Amino acid sequence: MNDVNALLDSVPTGLWLAGGPAAAASGATFDVVNPATGDVLVGVADAGVTDAHLALDQAVEAGAAWAATAPRRRGEILRAAFDAVTARADDFALLMTLEMGKILAESRGEVTYGAEFLRWFSEEAVRVHGRTATAPAGTGRIVVVKQPVGPALAITPWNFPLAMGTRKIGPALAAGCPIIVKPAEDTPLTMLLLAKVFADVGLPPGVLSVIPTTSAADVSAALMSDPRLRKVSFTGSTGVGRALIRQSADQVLRTSMELGGNAPFIVFDDADLDAAVDGAMLAKMRNGGEACTAANRILVQNGIRPAFTEALTARIAAMSVGPGYDAGSDLGPIINAKQVDSVAALVDEAVAGGATVHTGGHRLDRPGYFYAPTLITGAPEDSRIAGDEIFGPVAVISGFDTEAEAIARANDTEYGLASYFYTRDLDRAMRVSAALEYGMVGVNRGVISDPAAPFGGIKSSGLGVEGGSEGIEEYLNTKYIALT
Ligand code: ADP
Repeated sequence: MNDVNALLDSVPTGLWLAGGPAAAASGATFDVVNPATGDVLVGVADAGVTDAHLALDQAVEAGAAWAATAPRRRGEILRAAFDAVTARADDFALLMTLEMGKILAESRGEVTYGAEFLRWFSEEAVRVHGRTATAPAGTGRIVVVKQPVGPALAITPWNFPLAMGTRKIGPALAAGCPIIVKPAEDTPLTMLLLAKVFADVGLPPGVLSVIPTTSAADVSAALMSDPRLRKVSFTGSTGVGRALIRQSADQVLRTSMELGGNAPFIVFDDADLDAAVDGAMLAKMRNGGEACTAANRILVQNGIRPAFTEALTARIAAMSVGPGYDAGSDLGPIINAKQVDSVAALVDEAVAGGATVHTGGHRLDRPGYFYAPTLITGAPEDSRIAGDEIFGPVAVISGFDTEAEAIARANDTEYGLASYFYTRDLDRAMRVSAALEYGMVGVNRGVISDPAAPFGGIKSSGLGVEGGSEGIEEYLNTKYIALT
């Protein structure tokens, strides 16, 4: 544990305000827990409303100079942060595994993915374009420019402690906006270390603040009711997202909302079976199933269903479960006891309703918060597991007969984030891609996230996109200047 202690000693545990660590005004702290053991890793400062206002004061103070900083310079700082995070990839990976639980290989993957938002937006900082046109009536010129929206608040979840922050921080800083990050209370350490890295590479104080808190609702309400805040970007559950959209009405804030999902993963009879099983393992079990893009409903055409179910069961049953920092682990713990209870309740209810457990279906009797990797079939159509976000290592397979039935069932949800399907028929690939009511469609792929692509949902899954050339627009206002 020497490495761990040295790493934890290097992570700031204060609020990150004015370019350095600070105690909360109240002096309060809260514990960050290792989900693989239930043990406390470290205590961090617990921000209250006073601290939040201080962060906003500093954002406003630093914001004007940041907006006026040359785009090239803003890009260079982002690029230096990318380099610094990459140089400390092992530290960031271990820290995420310690506070969130995912296996080290996946944490390393997240460092690559999360850091890439910094590099991507370092390149976008110098590519913010407006346009100009002659008025159709010939009466003058239309000049359109883009300007930073101003101080932004980012509220992030615990499942991707680095990437959910960098995909908001990257575009905000590139666009010229100061940003206050309120990380999830389960996983504040990764953002605190990132803030330190940004300070080390020269980001001016006040441009990025990090305010871990156990009073998320109070802190965010205080900031969102302050007219100086101009933007809120949230990733989390649809319920909280709805509440934030309502709150954002008072100050008419720009909002970006990445909310819940209920991703269908469709396997047609003409799919490559091995590729579909590989894809399902990724789409379902990556990150322990704790992803809004995770395959929540695996719909398999009845011709291929027995072979697919058998093959996926074998793969899931073979997973070795343990702390994410143990070399042999394929699957780590779930984030906390409450989330294990939620997963267990969904499975138990489905089983009580007649579902069959092919593997798993129970908690693991060991310290920490573990649930066995599970595959079930025959869940009643009206069971909660068929409609709610599972957010755990539980695969649920059901059969279908026709393409039309698969599409209808896939779309029969209030959500519209990620969807996946496997087929070797090009016509079908085009038809089904068009018909799926989702912001993202993976065709013969189990992972779709890419910093260079616009990530976002429709329907109750959200507003706006992150990443791609589109992502920076979320932090820019459009201004029209009428010239003679
Ligand atoms: P999850 O169920 O994945 O924890 P949440 O939506 O509850 O998702 O949490 C995502 C983020 O939203 C976390 O940072 C959490 O602290 C924050 N959060 C939770 N409730 C509120 C709220 N009422 N107002 C603002 N932020 C909130």
